[in-house]
Amino acid sequence: RSIGAVMKETGHPQERINTGVAHSARVYDYILGGKNHYEADVAAGDAMVQVWPALPVHMRANRAFMHRVSRHLARERGIRQFLDIGTGLPTPPNLHEVVQEVEPRARVVYVDNDPIVLNYAQALLDSTPQGMTAYVQADMRDPDAILESARFREVLSLDEPIALTIIGILHFIHPGDDDHGLVERLLAPLPPGSYLAATIGTADFAPEEVGRVAERYAAEGMPMVLRTHAEAASFFDGLELEEPGVVQVHKWRPDPDDEKIRDVDIAMYGAVARKP
Ligand code: SAH
Repeated sequence: RSIGAVMKETGHPQERINTGVAHSARVYDYILGGKNHYEADVAAGDAMVQVWPALPVHMRANRAFMHRVSRHLARERGIRQFLDIGTGLPTPPNLHEVVQEVEPRARVVYVDNDPIVLNYAQALLDSTPQGMTAYVQADMRDPDAILESARFREVLSLDEPIALTIIGILHFIHPGDDDHGLVERLLAPLPPGSYLAATIGTADFAPEEVGRVAERYAAEGMPMVLRTHAEAASFFDGLELEEPGVVQVHKWRPDPDDEKIRDVDIAMYGAVARKP
């Protein structure tokens, strides 16, 4: 058993999981081709694909951005510690699998507020013996619950840079939640040389279709916020953006043999920036 497996969060009161209504993590899992979803998620996902057939392309491109960025930070920037907010259901390869392939000693703390993710967290805790992974069930809107959790403090050291990854979740975090303040509070204790990697939903490229998907999500009880390029870029204010800056996720350092993706099919900006 790895240290990560032993670190599994225990004694957490299980919230009731309602499989009768669609949930964002399970709809995403369904569209990515995963196995962790129910009828309600299939119905919601199918309805969304009907109003925007590019949705699977868009979601896979978001996931691929996470893979490229975490590999880049581990391999080119020497980052060994990751704090991943809005982890989602495990879909291989997960972040720790990507970075531990580069550096087996890498340590990852995963955070999600969905009780169903906790059910599947074992797959996220399958760390290399040299590294460590942990799972914290917490809400991004409560940064202290994350930063003061025993798992965060045990697994990550504030004496070394940490990459904060906020991928595919900011469209569920509304300006009324103090969206920028939350990101700032999560970054505040991280030492200089740490990184922020984020993706931000936008309707800049296919406003009608993406607007219809947003309506579907809202009808399922998951209202989303879509942001302009300027709004997306402002999450990185005060940080040093890496090339090529804030771009649609498929344009962020694509691998040479990646399939060609049309701009109009991608409703997500992404960027990586260093904390000075
Ligand atoms: N980061 C993964 C999964 C994105 S799916 C990827 O990009 O591939 C979005 C995840 O964010 C879901 O699992 C959902 O449960 C989680 N989420 C949504 N709002 C959240 C919040 N306020 N706090 C923590 N997690 C949240």
